Amino acid sequence: MFRISQFMHELARAEATGSYPAPMRRRSEGDGPGGPVVIWNLIRRCNLTCKHCYAFSADHDYPGELSTQEVFSVMDDLKAFKVPALILSGGEPLLRPDIFEIAERAKARKFYVGLSTNGTLIDEPLAARIHNHGFDYVGISLDGIGATHDKFRRLEGAFDKSLAAVRHLQNLGTKVGLRFTMTELNAHDLPNLLQLMRDEGVAKFYFSHLNYAGRGNIHRGKDARHLATRQALDLLYQTAWDDARAGGQHEYVTGNNDADGVYLLQWVEQHLPRWADDVRQRLITWGGNSSGVNIANIDNVGEVHPDTMWWHYGLGNVKARPFSEIWVDTSDPLMAGLKAKPRPVGGRCGQCMHFAICGGNTRVRAQQVTGDAWAEDPGCYLTDEEIGLAGSGDRVETTAFSSRRRMIELVPVESE
Ligand code: SF4
Repeated sequence: MFRISQFMHELARAEATGSYPAPMRRRSEGDGPGGPVVIWNLIRRCNLTCKHCYAFSADHDYPGELSTQEVFSVMDDLKAFKVPALILSGGEPLLRPDIFEIAERAKARKFYVGLSTNGTLIDEPLAARIHNHGFDYVGISLDGIGATHDKFRRLEGAFDKSLAAVRHLQNLGTKVGLRFTMTELNAHDLPNLLQLMRDEGVAKFYFSHLNYAGRGNIHRGKDARHLATRQALDLLYQTAWDDARAGGQHEYVTGNNDADGVYLLQWVEQHLPRWADDVRQRLITWGGNSSGVNIANIDNVGEVHPDTMWWHYGLGNVKARPFSEIWVDTSDPLMAGLKAKPRPVGGRCGQCMHFAICGGNTRVRAQQVTGDAWAEDPGCYLTDEEIGLAGSGDRVETTAFSSRRRMIELVPVESE
């Protein structure tokens, strides 16, 4: 996740004081190493069948899902492993009958607990239950205004229901964020969604680039083109900067494209050049993609993945082996590569002058399009000139989905 607002607030402070602020103390400093944030898909069933769903969810039960007791045991292991935060997701997590038991247990174990939901089931009484169980944050997906969102979500009236959920939760004081995944079919609605966020007093906006997983991979031919992505980022950066400069506390974050850090550096070089060196250093400290390092995923049947976009690649199952063991096992070639410093990324990314900022991006798009997890990321929207290449012009194109390349093969990475 790339926290635009954090950088914009630092820049606003720098402008006000004349010096760039010292880095905030990070969680791991002095506390010993912490575990990753875990996105936990507790259930695969969903009342919707959205076009970009990475989980291929549908409205029926899936066998082999973790029982309540199994969830509790895994949670104990995660706590001992110093996992700071659980993001409870699905499918639609509110369809899980024991969701509030799980949330209660997680809060008692002092996790930060987030909920990722489509929002369509949240009426006033359910909003009150969510609020009373102390969720720290609820992310509700809105992929456009009105009919655009309904089309993505394949349910007429979905937009109205999700917006009603936002309002119910906001009225109770629960922190809410809007989650928007952009493709060429809904890019035009981004300005209106940002306006809606402000009108509704919503605290956070999560802009997700399309990643090529699940139904999102099948629809990858509809991914936003690079120019549309750049225009969207320009708007987000300006919006976040205006908010920070005015003393606002809205959060603007992006996900699934770590080239956003490099693009921010370019924005700073253009608009606030005297802070570019400070921002570059801060971006290198951030280091780009953290799948398999600071972000983890457990799916509905207990399989562990480097993040939610790697459901086609399992690392081991928590029913057979504790998460804390699976996560540090670098005998797996993908985990060895993701945890390597630097990652063994080749092609255009390997030659990129900003590799230390971006970290080579998400790796899933490269694997889904080329079959090679360490090839260039076709989702990078920066030009050859911007990444310091002479400019052959040859790029891996995002081809339309083909069912022939579904399996992944990885060769072991040489350890240093
Ligand atoms: S070329 Fe690769 S490493 Fe460089 S910014 Fe783009 S995605 Fe990141």
